[in-house]
Amino acid sequence: MSPATATTKGFAVKCILCGEEGNVHVDLHDVASFHCNECDGDFTLDDVKAVLSRWQTCIAWLESAPALEE
Ligand SMILES: [Zn+2]
Repeated sequence: MSPATATTKGFAVKCILCGEEGNVHVDLHDVASFHCNECDGDFTLDDVKAVLSRWQTCIAWLESAPALEE
């Protein structure tokens, strides 16, 4: 009988402070608080939302560019 294979479940997100992937931890007592073991930084869900909002604004502007005629 072969041993059971463990499957890791998660989200491949990067730290918004240092960009490292795989080191962001969530506080189960306050799930809107995160800690990165790579840079030892702390950030919140609101910080992540602010980063995403800036990118969404940038993406909307980029996508508003007109298509060029060939
Ligand atoms: Zn980090």
